[in-house]
Amino acid sequence: MNDFDYQPPSLAVDALRRSIAYKLAFSIGRDPVSANSLEWLEATLLATRDRMVERWLRSNRAESNLETRQVYYLSMEFLIGRTLINALVSLGLYDEVKEALAGLNLDIDKLAEEEPDPGLGNGGLGRLAACFLDSMATLSLPARGYGIRYEYGMFRQRIVDGQQAEVPDNWLEYGNSWEFPRDNVRFKVRFGGRLQFEGARARWMEDEVIIARAFDQVIPGYDTSATNTLRLWSARASNEINLGKFNQGDYFAAVADKNQSENVSRVLYPDDTTSSGRELRLRQEYFLVSATMQDILQRHFLYHQRYDNLADKIAIHLNDTHPVLAIPELMRLLIDEHGFAWNDAWAATERIFSYTNHTLMNEALETWPVDMLGRILPRHLQLIFEINEHFLEQVRAQVPGDDGFASRVSLIDEGNGRRVRMAWLAVVASQKVNGVSELHSKLMVESLFADFAKLFPTRFVNVTNGVTPRRWLDCANPGLSRLVDSRIGKRWRLDLELLVGLEPAVEVHDFIDHLREIKRTNKQRLADYVKSELGIEIDPDSMFDVQVKRIHEYKRQLLNLLHVLARYNRILDDPDGDWVPRTVIFAGKAASAYHAAKQVIRLINDVATVINADPRANKLLKVVFIPNYGVSLAQLLIPAADLSEQISLAGTEASGTGNMKFALNGALTIGTLDGANVEMRERIGEENMFIFGNTAEQVEELRRNGYNPRDYYVKDPELFRLLNQVIGGTFSPTEPGRYRDCFDLNDNYQLLADFRSYVETQEQVDVLYRDPAAWARKAALNIARIGYFSSDRAVAEYAERIWQVEPLRL
Ligand SMILES: *Cc1c(COP(=O)(O)O)cnc(C)c1O
Repeated sequence: MNDFDYQPPSLAVDALRRSIAYKLAFSIGRDPVSANSLEWLEATLLATRDRMVERWLRSNRAESNLETRQVYYLSMEFLIGRTLINALVSLGLYDEVKEALAGLNLDIDKLAEEEPDPGLGNGGLGRLAACFLDSMATLSLPARGYGIRYEYGMFRQRIVDGQQAEVPDNWLEYGNSWEFPRDNVRFKVRFGGRLQFEGARARWMEDEVIIARAFDQVIPGYDTSATNTLRLWSARASNEINLGKFNQGDYFAAVADKNQSENVSRVLYPDDTTSSGRELRLRQEYFLVSATMQDILQRHFLYHQRYDNLADKIAIHLNDTHPVLAIPELMRLLIDEHGFAWNDAWAATERIFSYTNHTLMNEALETWPVDMLGRILPRHLQLIFEINEHFLEQVRAQVPGDDGFASRVSLIDEGNGRRVRMAWLAVVASQKVNGVSELHSKLMVESLFADFAKLFPTRFVNVTNGVTPRRWLDCANPGLSRLVDSRIGKRWRLDLELLVGLEPAVEVHDFIDHLREIKRTNKQRLADYVKSELGIEIDPDSMFDVQVKRIHEYKRQLLNLLHVLARYNRILDDPDGDWVPRTVIFAGKAASAYHAAKQVIRLINDVATVINADPRANKLLKVVFIPNYGVSLAQLLIPAADLSEQISLAGTEASGTGNMKFALNGALTIGTLDGANVEMRERIGEENMFIFGNTAEQVEELRRNGYNPRDYYVKDPELFRLLNQVIGGTFSPTEPGRYRDCFDLNDNYQLLADFRSYVETQEQVDVLYRDPAAWARKAALNIARIGYFSSDRAVAEYAERIWQVEPLRL
């Protein structure tokens, strides 16, 4: 323990320098004299990896202990970010490698920026999975992540003429040094065909087979020899080429089948909230779970030589409904391949699975047409029908004579063209179902799963999300980390609640001054980036007001923009007023088919063009949209923020994790009482945040009573004026009608209802910012009181209350 307090002799630096040079020569085949920076990076990654692998092998050995229960975390997305710096920090080798590289005339931070950032996720859900992997390793839990090795991750975003342009993300172009291809781990994944029954067992005569190949990525724990594995599946055609067609001379058709099969791991779906009806997505989901379940069973058998103790030895977690087909897949494997009786298979299944719900929004709930499922996965559809029959029988016994209830909870939605409700299947088969913040979990059992909460009163629990302090403070904000170290020591990286130890320092001028200097440095670093990427000058002494996250109507980037326009008008009306200069920063990707979200990006850029070019205002107000939001950009942006915008419509953001990262980095939050903002307020104190707007109950009440946005529009002259400007083309002079339909007439996300309260709260933000010491004092209290929102705490709760697993003894 605690080898990070130990000062290694420069021997370690020497050894590292030698192993980097050695990798360059013997693994890459380059002479140090002519190597380019990518080759040096590669050599550094390989030298670092070697030091992780030793620990990894030791953890794997400890996991094979027959007593330990294993956790498998299934997710269609893992947004892990770059690995190098995080790995070095975990190993406690950052300073040594920095010095070793400096000895080779290389700058570690510049080099690290050349590492590709694997975008194997869309946003919050995938990033949560990545924070959880980090925490599971750090807590030494016997856990593995399973996902898909998409050949193309999340698209790269460019802004062309103010509009989003999507560029393919070919992140594997130069290889991925962190992964180990497991050529011997291959499973067949089958699709289509028909069934033949022999009693309860079915023979599945598929008409297509794809091979899943494993690639393992090492996930180091911080300051522990524990390391975990993220296993990602890649698709291989089962027949390299179709020999029949090849022999007939049809060469292109012969390889077409191969391409068709391998498409299943080709691209990440760039849409995190609506389940696209596309067949390929269903095939991807099944590909993940089929390979994973076969792997889990094989591994279990290897250790135990039996299957009847399965439920005692494994826990499988479903991150959202995307991997829910793991449930019928486990049933299928147990019954059809391992000779289980139906009831025994179900009894095991019910004890193995748990599920996290991430959204209550209807349009985001995953359902699949019965027809399509039956065509692609006939055995699974049939098993789902059987699960449903058993379940409904139990429902009719428990709630007799209520057919309405039975049809509401049925796994099959009989209206709507007959669809399978994946969330219902997850709830029925899981021993625990959790929401991701207290508010979300409460709404979950009151609305979406109200009927199920009556049937299974103890099944639903809350585990509020968290973020890993290693990446989001130690790596992202070295200046602040060092300041924190100087006050409370280094252990906060393993126990974030130790940050409360900073509270006394809040009254110390020297500490507050330091905090301000660090923020200033981080803002300068971002300003340099904006200057070099976009050619826009932003002033690090202005307030950095930041909203970065997926662009989505419910997150209300448009509400933020309404405030920007109100401010712009006010400045023009009173150019000599005593204004607090602000730089309003946006970043985020819109799903490629999401028109309304793309229009928001365009409007932000159009508004930015007008305001930034207006000499009457541009000293006091600037607007920038920074392209290509992802983990790497987040690590640059969040430490530079003064104000964190968390302004979703109350009741729509399940938790948010961006909100936590900002507070941890000393930004003050302006936000609604939504998701985890509610708990942040309880812990940080209302007086240290800017809370505004309607509560979830008020939102519901407005909706029930017939919300009429027009009332707000006609009664509020400031709002009336700026909406007319946008609709009338003030910000799109070359195409005045561009934003005519920008504001949805129903205003489904109630922007107008919260506008006045938002703008008034922004005025209070200005008042506080005028007193820099008072501002910094509140920022310090945010840091000191945010410790609860560590993913270590969240994962420890899952381990104890949901998975019933214990840390490995290494
Ligand atoms: C944290 C994070 C998110 C989630 O942000 P929210 O504000 O909670 O939506 C999304 N994308 C990236 C890259 C992140 O780091």
